[in-house]
Amino acid sequence: MTDRIYNFSAGPAVLPLPVLEEVQRDLIALPGVGMSVMEISHRSAPFEAIIGAAEADIRALAGIPDNYKVLFLQGGATLQFSMVPLNLLTEGRTADYIMTGSWADKALKEAKRVGATHETGSTADTGYNRIPTDAELEFTPGAAYVHMTANNTIEGTEWHRLPQVPEDVPLVADASSDIFSGPVDISKFGLVYAGAQKNLGPSGVTLVIVRDDLLARSAKSLHTMLNYAVHAENGSMYNTPPAFGVYVLGLVVKWLRANGGLEGIAAVNARKAGALYAELDRTGFWKPTAQPDSRSQMNVTFRLATEDLEKRFVKEATAAGFDGLKGHRAVGGMRASIYNAFPEQGVTDLVAFMREFERVNG
Ligand SMILES: *Cc1c(COP(=O)(O)O)cnc(C)c1O
Repeated sequence: MTDRIYNFSAGPAVLPLPVLEEVQRDLIALPGVGMSVMEISHRSAPFEAIIGAAEADIRALAGIPDNYKVLFLQGGATLQFSMVPLNLLTEGRTADYIMTGSWADKALKEAKRVGATHETGSTADTGYNRIPTDAELEFTPGAAYVHMTANNTIEGTEWHRLPQVPEDVPLVADASSDIFSGPVDISKFGLVYAGAQKNLGPSGVTLVIVRDDLLARSAKSLHTMLNYAVHAENGSMYNTPPAFGVYVLGLVVKWLRANGGLEGIAAVNARKAGALYAELDRTGFWKPTAQPDSRSQMNVTFRLATEDLEKRFVKEATAAGFDGLKGHRAVGGMRASIYNAFPEQGVTDLVAFMREFERVNG
C-alpha cells in the first residue's frame, strides 16, 4: 500500500492496515452471511457473534475481571462527561476532578450541572504541562468518585502511576487517548471510558468498562439512554448499537491480541515515543512542552523557537508525507500522535526528516 501516508492525527486516527484490509475484503459480504455488517439486524446471530467476540477479546486482552461490564455506547467520550455524574454523583455527595487539561475542564463543566464537585491537583498554572504529584492531590472523604484523564491528548501529558484515591472511592478514568496502550489493572478503577477513534477503532462507538456494584447508583428517574444500568441489562442493545464501529473495534482488539497483547504493544509504544523524545532532547533546537516525568507516549507535543519556523516545519512535513503534525488550536505548536496503530517506521522516518530540518534551519 504505497499510497498510504504517515498519519499523525490526534483523532480520528490511524488504524492498523491489516484491520482496514479485512474490513475492505468483507465490506460487501461478511463471510457466510452474504451481506455487509452495516446491513444486518443487530438482533441477528451474525451480529450477536460480532459483538460477543469484541467483548470477549477485550476481556481477554485487558484481563477484565468478571465483576465488570463492558458496554458499547454512543455519543463519544463527551457524552460520558455527562453520563458519569448523572449516574454516579448521587444526592448529597461530591465528585472530585483532577484537573490536568482541556478535556478534564470539559468533564468538570458537565459534572457541575449535576451536583457538587471539587477540583484537585490542577496544573493549569503551568499550562497543564505536567501531571500533579501525590502531595498536590486532596480528596474529599467519601467522594462519589474521583475523575482523572489518563492521557491529556492536547497537552501531551500522561499518568505513569495511578492517583492514590481513598479506599472505597471509585476511580473513574477518561482513557480516550491511551486505552490499551499498555497493561492496565482494571480492578483499580470503578469505571473507564474511551471514545474509540483514537486508539480503538472508528468514531461513533464509545467503550465503557464499569464495575457491577456502581450500576446500583443509576437512578430509575434517569432518561433511559443515559442510564448505565439499562445499557448493561440490555447488553449494549437497548437500541441499535453502533454496529460498524463495534465490528471494527473488535478487529482492532483481535489485532492487538495477535501482536503480543498489551505487553507487546507497550514495548512498541515505548520504542516509538523514546525515539521521538530522544530527538526532541538532542540539541535544544526542538522544545518539547511536557515535563519529562509527565510525557505522553501517545501525543508528543513540541514547539520551535518561533511560530514562523513551526509553520514552515508543518508545511514541509505535510508535503513530505507526514500528515497531522499541527498542534491543537488551543495550544499551538506541533503534536505527533503515535497511537498503537501508528507504524514504527513512521517515527524513524519523521526523526530523519526532523534531523534534516534542523540541519537546514538550525
Ligand atoms: C478526544 C477526547 C475526548 C472527546 O472525545 P469525543 O469522542 O469526541 O467525545 C475526550 N477526552 C479525551 C481525553 C480525548 O482525547
